[in-house]
Amino acid sequence: MSDVSGSELRALMARVPSVEKVMASAEFAPLVSGYGRTQVLNALRDALDAWRLRAQSADAEGNPPLGALDSAQLQATVEAALRGRNESRLRSVFNLTGTVLHTNLGRALLPDESVRAVMTALTQPANLEFDLATGKRGDRDDLIDELICELTGAEAATVVNNNAAAVLLTLSALAAKKEVVVSRGELVEIGGAFRIPDIMSRAGAKLREVGTTNRTHLKDYDEAINARTALLMKVHASNYAISGFTKEAGLAEIAPLAHARGLAVAVDLGSGTLVDLSEWGLPREPTVRETVEAGADIVTFSGDKLLGGPQAGLIVGRRDLIAKIKKHPLKRALRVGKLTLAALEPVLQLYRAPEKLAERLTTLRLLTRSADEIHSAAQRVQLVLQQALGARYTVAAEPMFSQIGSGALPVDVLPSHGLVVRMADGKRGGRHLLALEKQLREMARPVIGRIADDALRLDLRCLEAADEAQLIAQLTAQYQGK
Ligand SMILES: *Cc1c(COP(=O)(O)O)cnc(C)c1O
Repeated sequence: MSDVSGSELRALMARVPSVEKVMASAEFAPLVSGYGRTQVLNALRDALDAWRLRAQSADAEGNPPLGALDSAQLQATVEAALRGRNESRLRSVFNLTGTVLHTNLGRALLPDESVRAVMTALTQPANLEFDLATGKRGDRDDLIDELICELTGAEAATVVNNNAAAVLLTLSALAAKKEVVVSRGELVEIGGAFRIPDIMSRAGAKLREVGTTNRTHLKDYDEAINARTALLMKVHASNYAISGFTKEAGLAEIAPLAHARGLAVAVDLGSGTLVDLSEWGLPREPTVRETVEAGADIVTFSGDKLLGGPQAGLIVGRRDLIAKIKKHPLKRALRVGKLTLAALEPVLQLYRAPEKLAERLTTLRLLTRSADEIHSAAQRVQLVLQQALGARYTVAAEPMFSQIGSGALPVDVLPSHGLVVRMADGKRGGRHLLALEKQLREMARPVIGRIADDALRLDLRCLEAADEAQLIAQLTAQYQGK
């Protein structure tokens, strides 16, 4: 500030219009009515401060002084700032990664039935914890536990915020200060901070590891059981596979052992599907019902993986154990909100009509989309993408493999199609491909693909008709704007 002389500074400030005058101007009226006076005033002050700073530094550097501020320019600056600040940070993207249940992109997409139920729950009071038959206080689990039991064959059920919470709560309620026997082959980390040994110690339970990484026998479990044992636990090794010289004692062997010793078995199924996916040509995953029937006393699984619902953790099993879990103080902290319950119920209801499931349940529809149908989409989008990207790149429609994601079989298994972008001169892509990947990521609706084998790959499995039209429109606007 001190490098500007007094008279120059006075001249400078004289060119800045008064805040009150600008706020009362016709140009600012729509902004004030839309965004409210407080925000507009702050944004205007910021814009004027920025202008003063620029004027001062122009002055200090001996540059010609800035012209008088014109009100249209000021209005445009303030409006752009307000629009930017009020834009949602949670944005829709195109998931062209080839991973259907992509954890970083929000996992399962929900059917319209759930959307409608959530809208109603958002805007109208509901019997969330109110028993309409008696007029007394109810339990939010009552809204959904019968349906879960019908679909899984379990005696009782409860729902919490996610499967990590389901495991934490189960261990806290059933095994605090006691031992839980787990095979060394199942001490998994499921992305982020979910590691079985850590969850175990957070829950106050003591992990009793048995067997080895590749082989664990029934007698390993048997020998580990002692007076301090609370549970035997099996964890679905969701995101990796051990092959070769391997052996894991199965639930069908472990459950009778546990029961004979007066203990319970908990199974963390991870993705936990409610139907046999091999009926749709997908890889087989153990269903929740089969797991209950094989003798699991508690089964935990996610709501937003193969189940195709909202983020949630479902806990099903023996009535007395579920009652204990529901009474634990952590249940109150980990419970789900009404939006989750509203979204989950219609998804579960879809499972009552398994013959319609591949059409109605978004996740299953995407997983079972035929390679031919995806191929047609790739042919439709190819030319538009080629035009949008220009002659520097070649865009080809090629077969590729999608993944289920979220830990269900961690390998490429679904024949799909997509667009493969390479450098037109046959050179290695390197930083040009990275720049292209960034450019697509910065579009109005970001396009998320993946770089592999010196090409940018866009798998179109998750691009259904409405999204395809939107992507084509966005790409068309891009090359017309060039
Ligand atoms: C995914 C997964 C979890 C964590 O479930 P969230 O719903 O993401 O909390 C826990 N255990 C297994 C085996 C999983 O696959």
